[in-house]
Order: sequence, then C-alpha cells, then structure tokens
Amino acid sequence: MPATRVAVPMLDLAAQYAPIRDEIRAVVEEVFDSCRFIGGPHVEGLESELSTFVGAGHGIGVSSGTDALLVAFMALGIGPGDEVVTTPYTFFATGGCIARLGATPVFVDIDPVTFNIDPEAVKAALTPNTKAIVPVHLFGQCADMTAINAIAAEAGLPVVEDAAQAIGARDAGGGKAGSLGPIACFSFYPSKNLGAAGDGGMITCADADLAHTMAIMRNHGMEPAYHHEIIGGNFRLDALQAAVLRIKLKQLDGWAGARRKNAADYRELFAAKGLAEADGAPGGPVTLPAERAGVHHIYNQFVVRIGDGKRDAVRELLRGNNIGCDVYYPKPLHLQPCFASLGYSAGSMPVSEQAALETIALPIFSELTAEQKEAVVDTVAEALVG
Ligand SMILES: *Cc1c(COP(=O)(O)O)cnc(C)c1O
Repeated sequence: MPATRVAVPMLDLAAQYAPIRDEIRAVVEEVFDSCRFIGGPHVEGLESELSTFVGAGHGIGVSSGTDALLVAFMALGIGPGDEVVTTPYTFFATGGCIARLGATPVFVDIDPVTFNIDPEAVKAALTPNTKAIVPVHLFGQCADMTAINAIAAEAGLPVVEDAAQAIGARDAGGGKAGSLGPIACFSFYPSKNLGAAGDGGMITCADADLAHTMAIMRNHGMEPAYHHEIIGGNFRLDALQAAVLRIKLKQLDGWAGARRKNAADYRELFAAKGLAEADGAPGGPVTLPAERAGVHHIYNQFVVRIGDGKRDAVRELLRGNNIGCDVYYPKPLHLQPCFASLGYSAGSMPVSEQAALETIALPIFSELTAEQKEAVVDTVAEALVG
C-alpha cells in the first residue's frame, strides 16, 4: 500500500493572505472610516499603478474581467451583424460577451503546443464583417501577438487582448500583456494571479479617447452628471476591492516568481521519473507546458497533456489522494449548447477538442511546498505506471 500523501489544494488563498493580513485589514478599515465606497483614491490609484505595471497608457477599473470584455466590445461599437474572431479554448466569458452584444463569435482553432489561438487560422477567418480579433493569453502565456498584430494591422482591425490569466506575462518582444494591443482586459477573480476579495477587473488602453469612452461607459455612459450621450451600465470597481488589490499588486512579481519556480521544480520531478521532457517537448506519457521562445510565462495554471485516454484516470487518482486538479476546459466554446445555432459540429476544431480530452491543470500556487509538489508528481506517476 502506498504511503499516505500530503493533501494539496488547487489553490491556498489562506496561505497567501497570512503575510499580508495586517496590511489588508488596515486598508479595509481605512476605506470604512472614509466611507468612500465608489470611486475615489484607491480606484484611481490602482488604475494608475496597474497601467504603469503593464506599460499601458490608461487603466479603467471595472466590476469583473467579464465586464472588462463587455465594455471593451461596447466601446468598439460591436453589435448585430458583426463578427469577432476568437478562440474556443477559453473561459466562457470571452465568447459570451461577443454574443451578448448580438455579434457573432467566430471560433478558430488553437496551436497544439501553447493552446493559444493559431494566427494562421485567425487570418483565414476574416471576412468583411469582422470587427475585432480577441486572442486569449491562456494559462499565463501570451498568444503570438507579433503575428496577430500583423494580421490585424493589415486588415485594419482592433485587437482586444483577453489578459485575464496573464497579468505580468511578457510576449517574445518583451512587452507585457495589456500593452500588446489597443485594448486589454484583466480579471481579479480570486483564482487569478492578482485576485480581489471578490469580483473585479481592469481594462488597459493606449488611446486616451477610447479610454475616456470606456471610463464613461462603466458608469452608465454618464457625463456630466445625469447627461447620457452613450448607453453604458454599472460596471464599476469597488473602492474596497481596489484598496485590497493595491496591496497585492506589490507582491505580484514575487508570487509569479514562486509560480515559475514551482513550474521549474515540476519539470525536474517529471523528467527525473522519465515521465516527460523537461522543456515541454512531446515524448513521455506527460507533455509539460512549453514556453514559446522569448516569452515570460506567469503560470496562472500549470496545464499538462496526458494522452492515450489516461487523463481521467490521473484525475481520479489525484482526487482520491486529496490533490487538487482541474480541467480547463472540458468542452470548447464552439460545442457549448448555447452556441448550437452557430452551427459548429464536433470535429470542426480538432486541436481544441483533443486538448479538452487530454489536459489537466495541476496545483501551481505560489506557496506550494516541496513535499506537495512531490506528492503531485508521485500520484501522477502512480496513475500512469503503477
Ligand atoms: C477569468 C476569465 C475571464 C472572466 O473574468 P471574471 O473576472 O471572472 O469575470 C475572462 N476570460 C478569461 C480567459 C478568464 O480566465
């Protein structure tokens, strides 16, 4: 009988909170004492600090990553009759926000190595009705923005980066996610690398006029008070969330460094067992994440590929050992029932569909211990080779 292994949560927010507990509690008290709950210095402070962090001109705090996408698409005037090209291998919000505005999400397949949108497939999908291109920097690695921006420039189309999973990531050219296109969207959902105490999001934007439009749009399109030239909504970021996020932003690079160290440790452990190539090349029963040359991956998720129909057995044994894991994403968006009317069939996006069957995310949070990483790898090994 194998020895009992240490439990490993998928994410340990309590461990992240402990060292910043006093600082967070103090700022929460400060916000309550000020009673400025909407807008104010913490929202403005975070907008400026985060846009500086990513190297974008402007930051617009919003209520979630989903609302960041929605406001960006609204500001671009996306609506009925328009097509928006994006990936089906992403969280629902990317496609959902396009459809909510009455536009048509046009899904194109992904690269099998990085799981990010395939630029050649983007190019092939453009039509006179295309209104924008939306790459997702999946799992913390930037999509190939050099190629995507070249295609967008040639077609005269805006790119909206879905950077929800990629705060602090850098593309091969050295630019950070959020500064690689005209508009980018971030999420502060608690499981993201920069997580709020609830929901929150941020749009970054290079153009001052567009930033201004989006800033108005998140507050009912109102400017000045009770005057509305455009229709917006309530997509505001809470002052309390902004105050908490400003404290966490100071830790972000350190946390990302710890995630990268965990990834490097996993590579060594998997390679030492002969289960995988350390650099993510295919070979063993496990294919580790591969970093595109020159990128800085921030590992919001550490997603491995397990072929030969063995992924689900690995998942079951991990769960049985109280080791967290998750499948991102088990059903690509083009096969979701709510998008049936778009007419995609099974087999139309083979790379995404195969990834949905073969990938599994392992715990990668910053505070993971050496013993926990060993337990993860030992359990995967047990599932694959006994
Ligand atoms: C998390 C996420 C979103 C949505 O962000 P929320 O803050 O949860 O609304 C959008 N796109 C991607 C790729 C995400 O991972």
